[in-house]
Amino acid sequence: MQKEAEKRVIKAGQRLGISKTDIQQFLKFDTEHNFELELNNGKKFQAYRVQHNNKRGPYKGGIRFHPYVNLDEVKTLATLMSLKTAAVGLPLGGAKGGVAVNPKLLNIEELEELSRKYVAQLYPHIGPDKDIPAPDVNTNSQIMDWMLDEYQKQTGNSTKAAFTGKSIARGGSLGRDQATGRGGVIALQQLLKSLKKSKSKITIAIQGFGNVGAYFGTVAETEHPNWKLIAVTDSKGGLYDPAGLNASQLLNAKKSGKQLSEVRKAKKISNEELLTMKVDVLVLAALEDAINEKNYRSVKAKTIVELANGPISDSVEEFLNSKAVVVLPDIIANAGGVIVSYLEWKQNLDTIQLSESDVNKQLNKYMTKAVKDVINSAHKQKLSLKEAALEIAIRRLV
Ligand code: NAD
Repeated sequence: MQKEAEKRVIKAGQRLGISKTDIQQFLKFDTEHNFELELNNGKKFQAYRVQHNNKRGPYKGGIRFHPYVNLDEVKTLATLMSLKTAAVGLPLGGAKGGVAVNPKLLNIEELEELSRKYVAQLYPHIGPDKDIPAPDVNTNSQIMDWMLDEYQKQTGNSTKAAFTGKSIARGGSLGRDQATGRGGVIALQQLLKSLKKSKSKITIAIQGFGNVGAYFGTVAETEHPNWKLIAVTDSKGGLYDPAGLNASQLLNAKKSGKQLSEVRKAKKISNEELLTMKVDVLVLAALEDAINEKNYRSVKAKTIVELANGPISDSVEEFLNSKAVVVLPDIIANAGGVIVSYLEWKQNLDTIQLSESDVNKQLNKYMTKAVKDVINSAHKQKLSLKEAALEIAIRRLV
């Protein structure tokens, strides 16, 4: 996957007339931390933090707890973060971290110990002006709170600005939980405007009803009554109802520990069925490579929102372009989270707390400008939105 991402960056660099040496330099990683964590009970896990680029500001990027986490994936995601922060114009760089663990198999004490040990190893390399981690897949505000607490203990520094995505009580930002989903809604709204479809009735399917996908659904439901959610899945499968599904009801049910399929009487569907469903907009909010060599020919949606990182394999993108499928690329579509993380970091540095409506206003401002810039640039240069977003980011970085 890293190789494919590199090829795409090199191609964009060539279009911009940037020398191969400068692009190769950009593709290098500043630091790679690769270490083993051992819990008191002897369980061992491989852990990573890759810092890619800090030319525009401190490194920034999430920490993922997932059994498939590996160095190659963390490196790809760190590069994506550098491109994302640049594409939306934030004064931050790119990094990513992770632990190869299935957190669902750990009890709460083990999870806290793992989170703290991760920071006990890394603390000299992170901090408000060095590298500011945040949550990602299977990590949340509780884990960020433990990590910040450990950072404060190890360094004796009481700053809250070393991590973002914390609980509100520990200095988190209002609106952070919904930020990535909300940003995706803003981005899709801008795209539909440019396609002259903002008033049309559209049908939507969401793959990955987790933090990002569920809030995309609930924000869309409140703000866009003409958008109809007709299908959702998570890792255990999902639901389809052509009459429409209620995202808030599904989210509340999941919060109370229910499976999507237990929520209401609707047709049960598999993840593959959702991906190839006839809908106007397919929202990918689970993991990488959801649309891949095996299933790309069956995808019927004409608009795809990449809310997850890298959910469309690079190798199938040309085919989707040739079928006039419009892909709203990850480095723009899911930047809402890092935008509000940036606002959280700034609030912590300035020791202030913005209201939720001020956070949402700023998020709207950053997202709208970034999406408009990408759409205009794609239009002018006859590029896909992904190529245009990459070019904007690379021009700012190299
Ligand atoms: P999450 O763990 O809260 O949710 C992921 C969801 O995907 C879960 O509901 C899971 O059951 C589901 N899923 C996993 N495999 C699936 C499959 N094969 N089919 C259908 N559903 C499946 O994670 P999240 O924070 O919502 O992150 C989702 C994606 O968004 C990741 O790629 C992440 O890197 C990216 N992202 C997250 C943020 C953020 O703010 N959390 C910001 C930017 C990008």
